[in-house]
Amino acid sequence: MHAMKLLRFSSQDQSEWGILDGDRVLIGNGCPYQGTLQPTGQTVPLRDIQLLPPATPSKIVCIGSNYRKHCLEMGRSVPDTPKLFLKPPSALIGSGQHIQLPPSVGRVDFEGELAVVVGRRATRIPPDAVSEYLLGFTILNDVTARELQRKDVQFTRAKGFDTFCPVGPWIVPGIESGDLRIQTHVNNALRQNSSTADMVFSVDHLVSFISHVMTLEPGDIISTGTPSGVGPLQPGDTVAITIEKIG
Ligand code: MG
Repeated sequence: MHAMKLLRFSSQDQSEWGILDGDRVLIGNGCPYQGTLQPTGQTVPLRDIQLLPPATPSKIVCIGSNYRKHCLEMGRSVPDTPKLFLKPPSALIGSGQHIQLPPSVGRVDFEGELAVVVGRRATRIPPDAVSEYLLGFTILNDVTARELQRKDVQFTRAKGFDTFCPVGPWIVPGIESGDLRIQTHVNNALRQNSSTADMVFSVDHLVSFISHVMTLEPGDIISTGTPSGVGPLQPGDTVAITIEKIG
């Protein structure tokens, strides 16, 4: 299980789970949420597949203001409890797919974030049990229409447009998430460069906290907030988010 990379991809209009093996993908049978994903023996080159979001969530729970330096750049105080909002599953796209900039909404920002995928149903779990409930870690771009976020106060419109939730490229189980380098490049220019050590609330704290509000189902995605350095996207830009040990 060490450094396994679980992914979903489309093949002949079907979605399949797979396990990355170098530059090839071992096509899987079964369900990773139940630990039953097994290679079929068939493989496909990574370059020949379209990656899908590596989960089919009932909900995507996001955290605002969870990096100290990002609170500073936004002129917000550091919160004393996690600030939750939701993105709709209809916003999901896979790694390498296109974000659509909606017309007439003004500035649209990238937000590179560490995300987790839930592996087992979780209701009111303690922080020290969280790792038993996670399938693993992935990367999420919490794309945000910044002017609408300020205008509406509620985040639903600003965060909820179709394609505003790229996730992937895959899930890595069982990593220690307390001090991972997280970087965002736009057109090869470094725009965010931080560590998860700057988080206000840890992954274990966040997942436990959310599980006391709503039952988390297998496949649900939790995104843990963005570091400082957020900025606008222009048509044709390429966004690349990298997190140490993930991809
Ligand atoms: Mg965010």
